[in-house]
Amino acid sequence: MAFTVFPDRLSRLPHHPVASRPRRAALTMAIGLSTLAALTVGVDLLEAQAAPTHGVRPRRLAIRGAIVVEGNGTPAEGPKDIIVEGNRIAQIVSLDPAAIRNGTAQRPPADVEIDASGKYVVPGLINLHGHVQDSRAGQAQPLDYQFKLWLGMGITTVRDVSSETPKTLQLRARSLAGEVHAPRFYVYARYAYMPVPRNAVEARQRVRDLKAQGVDGLKLFGMDRDVYGPVLDEAKKQGLGVAQHMAVDETNALDAAAHGLTSLEHWYGVPDAAIPDGVQNFPSNFNYADEGMRFRLAGRLWREADPERLQEVLKAMVKGGVAWNPTLDIYEASRDLQRAETQPWYADYLHPALEKFFRPDPSNHGSYFANWSSTDEAFWKENYRIWFGAVRDFERLGGVVGVGEDAGFIYQVYGFGLIRELELHQEAGFPTLKALQHATANNARILGQQENLGRVRPGYLADLVVLNGNPLEDLKVFYPPRADAAAGPGGGVAWTIKDGIPYDAQRLLREVRELVSTAKRGSAR
Ligand SMILES: [Zn+2]
Repeated sequence: MAFTVFPDRLSRLPHHPVASRPRRAALTMAIGLSTLAALTVGVDLLEAQAAPTHGVRPRRLAIRGAIVVEGNGTPAEGPKDIIVEGNRIAQIVSLDPAAIRNGTAQRPPADVEIDASGKYVVPGLINLHGHVQDSRAGQAQPLDYQFKLWLGMGITTVRDVSSETPKTLQLRARSLAGEVHAPRFYVYARYAYMPVPRNAVEARQRVRDLKAQGVDGLKLFGMDRDVYGPVLDEAKKQGLGVAQHMAVDETNALDAAAHGLTSLEHWYGVPDAAIPDGVQNFPSNFNYADEGMRFRLAGRLWREADPERLQEVLKAMVKGGVAWNPTLDIYEASRDLQRAETQPWYADYLHPALEKFFRPDPSNHGSYFANWSSTDEAFWKENYRIWFGAVRDFERLGGVVGVGEDAGFIYQVYGFGLIRELELHQEAGFPTLKALQHATANNARILGQQENLGRVRPGYLADLVVLNGNPLEDLKVFYPPRADAAAGPGGGVAWTIKDGIPYDAQRLLREVRELVSTAKRGSAR
């Protein structure tokens, strides 16, 4: 759990919090000059000693001496001072470590500062597949629980792909106004609410109705072919993005490619399109509505895809501009149930409502693990191997890979799920630099926000994560630090900055632990 810094990198890092010393020297010099201008600079520098106030946006914030991972796949670089003015990154100054040591470094002034020497700064993570949930298994679960977990692990943006749309639209506005401590939201509303549109005319009307509600995009589940083209065409006309959870259905990834779907969620629809007979070899008693059976057979789906056809499907997706958000984390229980059931975070961070929802029960979506066998896990492990390869091939062919967690289902807890997803991208064979790019610059591009979000770059929105460790060496630095870890405590997010508002991440996580422990006492009564 502890983070590691490569020895060669360590030697290039400033070991001590040197930032305050040269400033004092500069201050003395400024007062010595005793001109009005110099005094102004001096006052700025003096004020720069102050640490940020949790949850309050300063006028001008400096993050000092950080190693920066920009988010676009370029290597880490630093030390740098990042200056945030209001809610935007105003300036990034590269520093000469020798000049920092001897006090001659030019440091831009600020009102408050974060000493990030020895720390890493990455763009705020974007969760491309979230669900705002205020209850689980019929039990209330406070929104604060989700929001603090997300912010506490560096997630500053969530694309909500189906929740209670009117409520989430309000949340989006309140988050943007800084009235609620939460990530920024993009609302992709469920298209197929009742009554489900029956033809192309009704389908187009539904898209326009949703647009009129003010949503950012649509969330589709399995679709029929006759309405699929019209929905995607109308969405394009209305300027809406479209995320689709494909089902084993009439349409598959080739339809998505032909009509320019924004992002394919999960993975159904990709191997299906590469099965020579056009349909998986289901047993005769297969019933798609039986989740236990559905997920069991899903574990035998990738092996039925013809490898050559699969490459053609991936190429078609790339050509059609379809991004892929595989949400590898949300199926992981299928390949290793015991791991899923015994995650070390549960003791402190699992809300009793969510705990109840995770218990095997056919009435809770995804809680299908009654009678899960070693045979099921073996098939699912093979399923993952082929799936990993396909995601990797997809990117190599020019495709855009995104990152989303889909937490709140199948043993995934908000925030933890997204970091686990990054780990699984690494396991799939992507370098950590790429995994981080998937969650930042790529996700921003999928949202159509590539000029505002997903990079540590002047002019971009100030959504930043200050990390107590090197995420390129260990993605686990995003998780809460564990005092019980054999390697000792370490890592964790120091500060999450969303829209220029700094949050003490460990304070947020402490508040989550308190909230969970109070809720447990409540449900024990
Ligand atoms: Zn979902």
